[in-house]
Amino acid sequence: MSFQVFGIPVSRGVAIGRAVLVASGRVDVAHYFIEPAGVEAEVDRLLHARDVVAHELETLQRELPEDAPQELWALLDVHLMLLRDETLTGATKHWIIERHYNAEWALSAQLEVLARQFDEMEDEYLRERKADLEQVVERVLRALSRDPAAATSSHVAADVTARDFGGEDPLLLVAADIAPADMMQFKRSVFHGFITDIGGKTSHTAIVARSMDIPAVVGAREASRLIRQDDWVIIDGDVGAVIVNPSPIVLEEYRFRQRQSELERARLARLRHTPAVTLDSERMELLANIEMPADAPAALVAGATGVGLFRSEFLFMNREGELPGEDEQFEAYRAAVEAMKGMPVTIRTVDVGADKPLDRMSTSELRHEHVLNPALGLSAIRWCLAEPSMFRQQLRAIYRASAYGKVRLLVPMVAHLSELRMIHEALTRVRQQLTDSGHAFSEVEIGVMIEVPAAAMMLPLMLKHVDFISIGTNDLIQYTLAIDRADEAVAHLYDAWHPAVLQLIAQSIAQAHAAGKGVSVCGEMAGDVAFTDLLLAMGLRSFSMHPSQIPAVKQRLLRADASRLASQLPEVLASEDPQQTALALFSSTRGPAASSLYKH
Ligand code: PEP
Ligand code: MG
Repeated sequence: MSFQVFGIPVSRGVAIGRAVLVASGRVDVAHYFIEPAGVEAEVDRLLHARDVVAHELETLQRELPEDAPQELWALLDVHLMLLRDETLTGATKHWIIERHYNAEWALSAQLEVLARQFDEMEDEYLRERKADLEQVVERVLRALSRDPAAATSSHVAADVTARDFGGEDPLLLVAADIAPADMMQFKRSVFHGFITDIGGKTSHTAIVARSMDIPAVVGAREASRLIRQDDWVIIDGDVGAVIVNPSPIVLEEYRFRQRQSELERARLARLRHTPAVTLDSERMELLANIEMPADAPAALVAGATGVGLFRSEFLFMNREGELPGEDEQFEAYRAAVEAMKGMPVTIRTVDVGADKPLDRMSTSELRHEHVLNPALGLSAIRWCLAEPSMFRQQLRAIYRASAYGKVRLLVPMVAHLSELRMIHEALTRVRQQLTDSGHAFSEVEIGVMIEVPAAAMMLPLMLKHVDFISIGTNDLIQYTLAIDRADEAVAHLYDAWHPAVLQLIAQSIAQAHAAGKGVSVCGEMAGDVAFTDLLLAMGLRSFSMHPSQIPAVKQRLLRADASRLASQLPEVLASEDPQQTALALFSSTRGPAASSLYKH
């Protein structure tokens, strides 16, 4: 049956493929692909874990006291029966062999299929056996996590394609929510698109999807309940539509649109070597946002002239509590610096907490169970200053990388001058430590992110202590409007065009200029062509975005007249409806504005 689900469009384009469902409670199990040569060993891992659990259950049953209630015996019998049933292990093997899922993922996928079958059963007794099945799967997952072979399993290589896994069909990921740590696992995987039930335009699932340049729809509420494993799905990332089991005619229409957007991309890619200069000869800096050193080549291909935001926290994720040491971090930063061939690399100190936990905690789990109010808690620089030796370790690694190219250091979420003082104290100590230990380093510019209204409002005081600022509009909007950026329930109020947000951004850019300090925007607004004119009008000359967004923003800049736009800014800022005013005024200088990722 064909049907549609709607959500929030967060990453443009059309993806067509088969649904891979990751059940909500099971996103925290590892999800990765097995190399073709490792499939047999992975099946053995699964069977071994099953046998371990069978042995545990049999022992438990054997050791039950004589007077144990009869129900307990029966329950263990049911669990053993479910465990040995071919619909569990046989079909799980299928996911490993056909799709090359790791055993944990395959087991979760099969649980998802079986759980739905149980839900649809008429008989209440049988329907309730779903809970037993979940307990059995939980036991097998635990046995798998204790298996030392898990750590050495052959994870997917970066350059594999779906074809290597024996399937021709592209795969689209469907989940209730995806933790940022899981997104990083998926980043180098074969998924061609994402659909999640929860999330907002600048939630990290959305940001990573954009960085992968693949279509994504978040906040699609019921999607993971309605879509089934292997369903054919179209993701329309331009409007936020998800079409399940489309008719042939709809499918053909979307294939046509896919080809059109590929042609458009190819056309834009030709701008790679064109300098980003406006009609009135203002030169712009187009920088890349990256999550891993491996993203640097894409930045170069897109024509970036440096990295404006290296989100270093992704190096800290998926490590089961063990953080990367100084040398490991240094190698990663050096790799990014060397890959950028002398162009500046802005490394942001670890920005965890809020909606980016270190382990695989999903946003909903964080919000509802573990942390009282993560967005206002011990995150980013607050966490770093609470863990001074970890912070200094990162600072040393960043400074050491500066011996290999131009490095700039960026600190997130700063809101207090006392934080700036502590940062400078840490830096002084780190430089001394490096000198004492004979490590080379060069001069590193120090910058802060403007993400909290308090920082924007006291900027002249902050600017005295830094070399540059980078405006993190994703968080600045969240904290100015008191709207959780990851909560689809209030996503309609997450408004980059809100007059208060515009005032803070315009004022920050102007004050940085007045103080002779560098300023860029590295939030999602910088890569959204619907805001290019506005930011230009505000005087911005440095934009940092996902590499895939650079060509379109460059095209926009090439057609813009910066001084004319600047003369129209006061009217936009004074307007009760800045979006409409900007649209009317700015489009008089050229064609209609492109559609935006933000509120229309
Ligand atoms: C921002 O808040 O705008 C930003 C760039 O940081 P992040 O999205 O990683 O929180
Ligand atoms: Mg931020």
